[in-house]
Amino acid sequence: MASNKDELLGKDLEELENYMISIGQAAFRARQIFKWIYTKEVNSFYDMSDLPRELRKKLDAIAQISIPRVLKQRVSNDGTRKYLLELRDKKRIEGVLIPQGSGKDSRYTICVSTQVGCPVGCSFCATGQSGFQRNLDYYEIIGQILGSRRELKRKLKSNEENIISNVVYMGMGEPLLNYDEMIKSIYMLNHPKALGIGQRHITVSTAGEVKGIKRLANEGMQLTLAVSLHACDDILRNHLVPLNRKYPLSALIEAIEYYISVTNRRVTFEYVLMDEVNISKQDAQNMIRLLKPLLANVNLIPYNEVAGLGYTKPSWPKIQQFFGWLAEGGLNVTLREEKGSDIMAACGQLRAGYSNIYRN
Ligand code: SAH
Ligand code: SF4
Repeated sequence: MASNKDELLGKDLEELENYMISIGQAAFRARQIFKWIYTKEVNSFYDMSDLPRELRKKLDAIAQISIPRVLKQRVSNDGTRKYLLELRDKKRIEGVLIPQGSGKDSRYTICVSTQVGCPVGCSFCATGQSGFQRNLDYYEIIGQILGSRRELKRKLKSNEENIISNVVYMGMGEPLLNYDEMIKSIYMLNHPKALGIGQRHITVSTAGEVKGIKRLANEGMQLTLAVSLHACDDILRNHLVPLNRKYPLSALIEAIEYYISVTNRRVTFEYVLMDEVNISKQDAQNMIRLLKPLLANVNLIPYNEVAGLGYTKPSWPKIQQFFGWLAEGGLNVTLREEKGSDIMAACGQLRAGYSNIYRN
């Protein structure tokens, strides 16, 4: 539901100071509120114990901090957690937290969404097949992280502010089709007084939105770019990733070359392995020809099956064989360890409002 209250989440410190001044308050109040939001994930002004009572009341009447609520969650055998979060308009998105390392000191990578659904419509992807509802605002993108972190800290009884160490834009949606909100959210993640996550710990994954790749190159940031390739000839890629009809492989590769030349960063290509679809010897040869000149990393992802879409994961020997062809051809290739697939939290299995699979 739209609200007339001023949204404070996502304002940087200076904006928050200006806001406090605009309502007749001292600027230092902004620093207090900022701290409550970003270190304690507090969204009720009444919980901000160092603000005067009158001010808490006043802020509650005119402003809000929309950290999404975690409605439900599931925990995988490997420690991966999937959250169902509710946005202000009651739309729901899924977020995933993946543990890095084990034990008490483990940190988490969070997989965030940038849209409710996705307009790209890849034929193998649950999100793409569930249609597109809307873009997320940047404060909702940041809110996902805060809402998930609050829940994680509560569950683990942890006070560790840095419990989330990496952010990957690989949840629902195509980040570069929601460019402005995505980039604002990255600036806030990176801000030392907000979430303080280093640029090299942030990965943006795209299905090949060429205009966005070029814009991102020009931001002058040290982000990691991941490109979802899945096919190395246009006919197959047109079918799997419909965005390829707008930006064929030649245009995509040119944009990636530009990204590499401007940022000096290695790019990662993601390649989902689907049986009988994209893992023939010819596919491997096409990939070697296309990617070898780029000195890129290739990340193979065994397909996570989605009911009704008609794609299957190849057998282990076939996966190994494909891997071997690429490695012999001189590509720098890794096989992604799949986490969370037992709770449908793996890549491409997130769906808007898909709440019936949660067991509390
Ligand atoms: N829209 C962006 C980011 C979100 S999808 C993109 O496409 O890159 C994140 C990754 O999950 C992409 O590489 C996507 O191709 C992959 N993916 C989608 N469905 C999948 C599935 N069922 N199994 C494995 N990976 C999948
Ligand atoms: Fe969208 Fe990425 Fe899924 Fe394609 S794979 S439909 S771009 S979320």
